[in-house]
Amino acid sequence: MTASLSRFYIYEKSEISFGTSRFLLLKNSDNEKYLYVEGEKSDSFNDPAAKVAEGCIFPLTNENAYQLARIFPWLKPQKLGRKKAFGFGDRIGLATPGHLKSIEKYDVKPVLAQQSIREMDRVNRSPQDVVASSIWGAFERNYTEGFGADADHLKTEEDVKKSAAAGFRMFTCDPGAEVYNISKLSEDEILKIFNGIECSDILLDKYLDRSFLVKSDRTDDEFELTFNREDIIRSSVKYFYAVEKAIKMYFQLKKEFNGNNFDYEISVDETASPTTPKEHLFIVRELIDKEVEFESIAPRFRGDFEKGIDYKGEIGELKENLKIHSAIAESFGNYKLSFHSGSDKFSIYPLISEILADRYHVKTSGTSYLEAVRVAASKKPEIFKQIYDLSRINFPEARKSYNISAQLEKVPELSEIDAEDYPGCLDRDEIRQVLHVTYGSILEGDEISKAFYQCLQEYDSLHYNFLSEHLDKHLNLLEQQERGK
Ligand SMILES: [Zn+2]
Repeated sequence: MTASLSRFYIYEKSEISFGTSRFLLLKNSDNEKYLYVEGEKSDSFNDPAAKVAEGCIFPLTNENAYQLARIFPWLKPQKLGRKKAFGFGDRIGLATPGHLKSIEKYDVKPVLAQQSIREMDRVNRSPQDVVASSIWGAFERNYTEGFGADADHLKTEEDVKKSAAAGFRMFTCDPGAEVYNISKLSEDEILKIFNGIECSDILLDKYLDRSFLVKSDRTDDEFELTFNREDIIRSSVKYFYAVEKAIKMYFQLKKEFNGNNFDYEISVDETASPTTPKEHLFIVRELIDKEVEFESIAPRFRGDFEKGIDYKGEIGELKENLKIHSAIAESFGNYKLSFHSGSDKFSIYPLISEILADRYHVKTSGTSYLEAVRVAASKKPEIFKQIYDLSRINFPEARKSYNISAQLEKVPELSEIDAEDYPGCLDRDEIRQVLHVTYGSILEGDEISKAFYQCLQEYDSLHYNFLSEHLDKHLNLLEQQERGK
């Protein structure tokens, strides 16, 4: 017997007609989602689950997602070029419709799939899973403006291959392991490493006593950067090998794509000491000399960009520093500056907006995971309790791979918090960080992750509202300059 459509919840925005075919996203009473297709295109999809009304329903597999994106090309991740962008990392894979809800009213490109291989491994997801979730989410929301997909923090050739094959179109090279922590080296050691660089003479020739004038038409700032011998030696030792790696990865990508139909970012954000303006200039000059085309650079900025909480550092100093970094970017091709761990940095968004305007890329991720946890805190206190307790237990181990300052002693047992304050306790810095870094243990765990996913599927519209409200606070501050014009 053929079931009727009325047995399902219909995501009305998703409806698309194509020739004689009609497409919809549905949810059954067990909160499982299906793709509904009627008409000739229903032959293109795999594993039909049931006949419904005039068509068939299909499970949301990766294969079916890619097939859908072949029919509707706007569902395929795209190269965004140098348009300002906001990265919505989604560790769970259910957040995209909420993310899109927050960005729709802004003229900013969304990067919907954004995850590092390290993170995917932690939560047992493949690059295909990550891309497919963004396709399903864009379909649910009928988002046709085009979005990016960022294979973040790539370190190996193998990871580049895997993510390119899965449909990612932005590649963030992380040559952090090649960056020397020169603050830990003696002058002799630094000199020895410099002399070991094959082209050290050429580098001296190229930069010694040379002045580079960098300026911003936007802010009317002008700076002259002159390299003395020590500047060249220190910049080269710190970043020469990192630049070499970035060059290599770029040409690997060019080969994979048979051209440069992809976005490329070089990130050194996860390294020990801030990138000085001269070092930034050194990096981009070397990249440009080797004909590497890139859309964004993520320097290690001054101050602390800790996960899930506001910026820690001298705002005034960051502002002066950012003006020089921005002038360099404007003078050498007008590329974007990229801010990793960019969520919840409310005190610096006005600076980014004022100084960079349309040349920023801000990446967020764990903050969306916290909004998902807020759904459990609001609707399923017993699931929230399991997440909270397990996160406290796993925190000492999980924190080792992050730069965060939370102290477990300051995080209360859940029994000390009233149940009606569960959602609100997620605004406390210490609790945010403890939950933020322990997501791996929650999302990989069989039973608890299953219950958590079910909760999010049941309360998906609340989940989307939490996400869009929280991320709107980010975008609203980043885009204030534009609206002020
Ligand atoms: Zn990063």
